[in-house]
Amino acid sequence: MANPIDNYLVRTDALQRFPQKNDIYKRAHRRDSPLEEAADRYYYTLRDPTTPHWKIPGRTLKDYAYAMGSYYVERNFAKGHLTGNFGLLKWEEDFAEMTKANRMEPIHKYEVKDPTAMAEDVKKVAKKFGASQTGVCELNPLWVYASGYDPETNEDFSINIDFSVYQYAIVFVVEMDYEAMQTSPSHLAYATAAYAYSRAAYVAGQLAHFIRTLGYKAIPSVNDTALNIPLALDAGLGQLGRNGLLITPEYGPRVRLGKILTNLPLGIDKPISFGVPEFCNICKRCAKKCPGGAIMTGELTDKPLNISTNPGVFKWPVNGEKCFQFWGHSELVCSNCIRVCPFNKPRGRIHDAARFFIKNASWFDQVIVKADKLLGYGKKTGAETFWADR
Ligand code: SF4
Ligand code: SF4
Repeated sequence: MANPIDNYLVRTDALQRFPQKNDIYKRAHRRDSPLEEAADRYYYTLRDPTTPHWKIPGRTLKDYAYAMGSYYVERNFAKGHLTGNFGLLKWEEDFAEMTKANRMEPIHKYEVKDPTAMAEDVKKVAKKFGASQTGVCELNPLWVYASGYDPETNEDFSINIDFSVYQYAIVFVVEMDYEAMQTSPSHLAYATAAYAYSRAAYVAGQLAHFIRTLGYKAIPSVNDTALNIPLALDAGLGQLGRNGLLITPEYGPRVRLGKILTNLPLGIDKPISFGVPEFCNICKRCAKKCPGGAIMTGELTDKPLNISTNPGVFKWPVNGEKCFQFWGHSELVCSNCIRVCPFNKPRGRIHDAARFFIKNASWFDQVIVKADKLLGYGKKTGAETFWADR
């Protein structure tokens, strides 16, 4: 019998560049069917402190304020979950003016003699700026959006990138807080995602400016401009999980992503394999614990579930419509598919041993799945516990 994961990530001719307007959040913004009612509830009731749920721990004004504080940089100085090309994520700048203001000498182009060493330097700088892990890949044009979408004007816009110039993508992940994530669904879990977006914008903007100062081109980006997960897979940062998320070896799916497109000559990383599809094939916990019924328990498929699935890749597509409908009707941001995932664990000797077995002995996966459940990992913790631990 054929192994059901033999087709994992195999691509077909149906694969095309994805229009950003079909991203589930952009569809919700534009009230696309069948998301109208959920979007109304999500965008208005979530923010209405007169509704009764504001008294529930994890949904109080204090919890919400933490989320809004976390989003402040992203929303006001980046817009990386919307259009990008703004503030920290501005594509190109008036570099001459900026260098004059910074009292820099006229720019000379840094000579890259060893692209592999240059990539290591870039990773070091990314880490100093706040990236948790960084990888490099060649920029596959298929992962760049076919067009962008601006929810404020409700219009598509062109994404014009000269792929003969921008040949590399520097992709990075920012770890989200374990403690806050374990309260999902709640405004506290929302807060850690929001804070990671803010940090990703900060990392991308500063790293892009490091590269520009070396005399090269750089487009900083968070969720805008191109699909993050395929780029991260190409850059060797992780594998794709049943939950539709990037699973990293260090943090599991508890990360947010960003990238810089550039012409800086860089040594590239290779995709990695550490047992994720084999483990997901047995585990299925995210599917069982998804309150929206959005994650499938079945086998890999290249068939899209709706227009928010990018067709042409064998994977476990997540039903974004069902996911967002849960968010809307619960008036809450959910991250249960991160919270319950056995890969979502802080580092430690026992957890590292489990990672070793998953990578090297897939016959042991069944035992790890059972042990993880018996030991109570992935259970929701209360918001009171989060605030009490000072
Ligand atoms: S965020 Fe929540 S509703 Fe959406 S897929 Fe994950 S578990 Fe399901
Ligand atoms: S919860 Fe289990 S099935 Fe889902 S992504 Fe994580 S390891 Fe895979």
